[in-house]
Amino acid sequence: MEYAISILPQAERTVKDTTTIPFGVQPTEHMFVAEYKNGQWHNSRIVPYSNLTMSPFALCLHYGQTVFEGMKAFLMNDGRINIFRTDKHYERFAKSLERMCMPVVPQALFTEALHQLVQLDGSWVPDTEHGSLYLRPFMIASEERLGVKIADEYLFMIVCTPAYQYYTQPLKVRVEETYARAADGGTGYAKCGGNYGGAYYPTKLAREAGYDQVIWTDSKTHEMIEESGTMNLMFFIDDTLITPPLSGTILDGVTRDSLLTLAREMDIATDVRPIGYKEIEQALQTSKRVEAFGAGTAAVIAPIQTIAIKGRDYDCYIGDDATMYKLQRALYDVRKGTATDNHNWNYII
Ligand SMILES: *Cc1c(COP(=O)(O)O)cnc(C)c1O
Repeated sequence: MEYAISILPQAERTVKDTTTIPFGVQPTEHMFVAEYKNGQWHNSRIVPYSNLTMSPFALCLHYGQTVFEGMKAFLMNDGRINIFRTDKHYERFAKSLERMCMPVVPQALFTEALHQLVQLDGSWVPDTEHGSLYLRPFMIASEERLGVKIADEYLFMIVCTPAYQYYTQPLKVRVEETYARAADGGTGYAKCGGNYGGAYYPTKLAREAGYDQVIWTDSKTHEMIEESGTMNLMFFIDDTLITPPLSGTILDGVTRDSLLTLAREMDIATDVRPIGYKEIEQALQTSKRVEAFGAGTAAVIAPIQTIAIKGRDYDCYIGDDATMYKLQRALYDVRKGTATDNHNWNYII
């Protein structure tokens, strides 16, 4: 099925230099909007970026039916633009929507909307080495109704903002032993708004104690490692890349999957298995070289310098020859078109 998307272009691009604007502040000129009503998607359109008007009764404002995706478009060395792994992001969007009883957007509409929007705002894709255009598809329940119910009306939208290298200091994180991000049977595997609001408080406590983020552990024993902040967590110990398996409490990260795939192709041993903080503690106590890093679309990889376990700080390896940087480089090369895209990850505009 084809989706006709109407386009109302903005006259002129007003903001020229975006390099100094902090991440997530500057929208591009346009946005995509589609409305769901009476069981169908209507009025798919690209319009100048503008505020929304909605009823204070809108269900999304009360009961949390909101789902989002985070993806990126890159300028390749040959001048073309690609969107990274649209299929995989679509699959996850669909899973999140199902979990939240929201209508699954047809894949053709999702892809076509991204394509048209990125094409129109293509001048916003930064040409700096680590720049990208961050794309945020999302859906909210827009029906006006104060009662607790599954909404019958929704908005599906896409907005974009330029992203530059997110050069952060290596992180200091602490293993969380009281709070949980997700529990068995819950919504941890979905990118729904409530998961993030619920994570703020424990993260705030960690910040007050001098850490950047928490390492989330399982809700029952607080021993098994799950994620860090809003990133998947990976370790490199004994020449092996280790990360916990996907479960109902771990988000299926596209970066995680891409790095695992690249590692296998680079003949780096990978081990996807449950890993407890005690194993990490033991490796660090016996002075093994431990690399630890977060993996996610925003930062790609976020090196971890310090892990606090039971009140004690341990140092991880962040030297220039660390394997995490080789993986990061390999992913970068695929996106830039300087390495072969063996898996058709680049959706070229
Ligand atoms: C989005 C997200 C990730 C990373 O997923 P990517 O697809 O790699 O961006 C990991 N954990 C959580 C909780 C997330 O929300």
